[in-house]
Amino acid sequence: APEGERQHTRATCPYCGTGCGVIIETRHGQIVDVQGDPDHPANFGRLCTKGSTLHLTAAPAVTQAARLLQPALRTQRDQAPQATTWSTALDHVAQELARIVRTHGPDAIGFYGSGQLLTEDYYVLNKLAKGLVGTNNLDTNSRLCMSSAVAGYKATLGVDAPPACYDDFQHARTLFIVGANTAYAHPILFRRIEGARKANPDQKLIVADPRKTETAEMADLYLPLRPGTDVALFHGLLHIALAEGLIDMAYIEAHTEGFEALRATVADHPPARVADVCGVPEADLLQAARWMGAHTPTLSLYCQGLNQSSRGTDKNATLINFHLATGQIGKPGAGPFSLTGQPNAMGGREVGGMANLLSAHRDLANPAHREEVAALWGVADVPAQPGKTAVEMFEAAARGEIKALWIACTNPAQSLPDQATVRKALETAELVVVQEAFATTATVPYADVLLPATTWGEKDGTVTNSERRISRVRAAQAPSGLARHDWQIFRDVARRLEALMPERRATWRTGTTTLFPYETAEQVWNEHRDSTRGRDLDITGLSYALLEQQGPQQWPMPEGHAQGTARLYTDGRFPTPSGRARFANVPYEPVQDPCTAEFPISLNTGRLRDQWHGMSRTGTLGRLFGHVSEPCIDLHATDLQQRGLAEGDLVEVRSRRGSVIVPVHTSEAQRPGQAFMAMHWGQEVLGGTGPEGQARTGVNALTSPFFCPKSKQPELKHAAVQISPV
Ligand code: SF4
Repeated sequence: APEGERQHTRATCPYCGTGCGVIIETRHGQIVDVQGDPDHPANFGRLCTKGSTLHLTAAPAVTQAARLLQPALRTQRDQAPQATTWSTALDHVAQELARIVRTHGPDAIGFYGSGQLLTEDYYVLNKLAKGLVGTNNLDTNSRLCMSSAVAGYKATLGVDAPPACYDDFQHARTLFIVGANTAYAHPILFRRIEGARKANPDQKLIVADPRKTETAEMADLYLPLRPGTDVALFHGLLHIALAEGLIDMAYIEAHTEGFEALRATVADHPPARVADVCGVPEADLLQAARWMGAHTPTLSLYCQGLNQSSRGTDKNATLINFHLATGQIGKPGAGPFSLTGQPNAMGGREVGGMANLLSAHRDLANPAHREEVAALWGVADVPAQPGKTAVEMFEAAARGEIKALWIACTNPAQSLPDQATVRKALETAELVVVQEAFATTATVPYADVLLPATTWGEKDGTVTNSERRISRVRAAQAPSGLARHDWQIFRDVARRLEALMPERRATWRTGTTTLFPYETAEQVWNEHRDSTRGRDLDITGLSYALLEQQGPQQWPMPEGHAQGTARLYTDGRFPTPSGRARFANVPYEPVQDPCTAEFPISLNTGRLRDQWHGMSRTGTLGRLFGHVSEPCIDLHATDLQQRGLAEGDLVEVRSRRGSVIVPVHTSEAQRPGQAFMAMHWGQEVLGGTGPEGQARTGVNALTSPFFCPKSKQPELKHAAVQISPV
């Protein structure tokens, strides 16, 4: 188009797993506006406050103030990184990685990525780490987000695949939202739920959450369960369903295994006991089970309240138990449905971009799968040793076992729990590479090498949303400064490492001189697509051209299929060895980091409506602070009175790991003995010191490193704290 003419580019919002389509308007090559894409099946033209202000975060003034625009490098820890060229920075990274591998072995390298990387970025990173370097120490901030959902699906249904779709909101007669504040975390999905309720006044909405959130305010039935008691709740609901004849024995017998073993555990959860454990009235438990078991179809929606838990996998699996026992899965309006936190946590799982996964839902523990992937990649092997997950990786770096950390598109110096350990890790590692779009994150000051990356509006590729729908992301303007695409940066280091570590190569693809021959995002995606052939997420029928012509599609979509797949397991067959879904027979166990007389309050963390993660992007816009302008701790009025506190007083919040000072806010959403802090603010605002006096960061000065032993997802929804006036 002639210069100055308006241009419109279809892309996807980068903020949450709803995956809304956007149309970006550019003038003179600069992004000037964004609108919802009326043709995108996730949002039909709607955008929330975050999505509708995206263009403002790409304004030149924001770019100049907040973006990382040039590579930088330091060779002495006591110096600041100096601006350098790309080739110098990339040479340095490759040479240092090769040196550390030679000296300490490949497991001395840790790669830490993000659910905001595009699928193409993820694919090249995974191949670089597991294929070329030869370590499975590749994890991402998706470990903080969806790994319990992954483990829950695999334990029960066989593979990591959400079985339902957004259209099911309007088919359901009962919606059960548990551990999710959809009104804030997935605003456009919440609009769709509101629409479904308006269209169908008979639809029942049950919300289970320790906080009476904006989502809970809309419920027909609110279950204010105590933090961490979800497994007891789900066993209790199944107990009632059994007692009242609401289970579907025909479905259980035809399509599942393990139900008899579960019966005894469920029998041990009568309503009176569950009411006592969960703090929910017995009558409300009965009502919930009756609606979920009889006012069907029933759709369950869940997010971090289930996932961010030291029993996260069991919470997911026992909720799925209820759906299997009542046959509420694989039908319109029915199923367990995890809502993805990040925009592309799903895509990352698809390419196997985590420490225990391999490409296209292959299992690292399976020798045949490792051989398949090594052959696909043309490398000597894929190591068998599982990699270190997010919390484990930083603990290993703090102990000096991991010598190099390469961090891409995420901010662990704010977002990981137990910041004292994270900061020690960043100080102890010999090499810290930070690949980032923004210069303002708390992790940037720890970098020995800074690699500027492109971001929303500048990138090409794909993402997958909560309902398995693959959408295109398209660039609307040129990269800012010297920023490069994440997949290009991984590729360019990989090509250098191929020369330094030739023993890792096994085969060349015909006509190429590198295992990383990609010149476009589409070439990367095509290789990923080929790796899915015959797998549960087969997308061999899909292409960039088809996405262009027919719009976003839901996987699987094997070769020969005209369109994607809305729902899974409609035939009652599951991708397990027996073809049957498996009941999870697991006990209820309370939260770790218990509340005591010294630390009597259970601290919950979560999102606000208008902010995103550590605010590197949303924090650049004043208007997004109109909803909530400063950090605070929400407490019930009783807890203020007991401590002689008034609204707005400053308090010290102290856990077993550190402390912060914040104003207190009286909130009717809180129950006595429970508190809530938003996750978005960091050290700059909250300050605070730990027991040893070192600086700590935001709410994660307080949170605990305990994680689910199955998913390794940390318990960010509960930490025992004390609160005192300052
Ligand atoms: Fe973006 Fe999520 Fe809002 Fe949609 S709901 S506009 S994906 S932040």
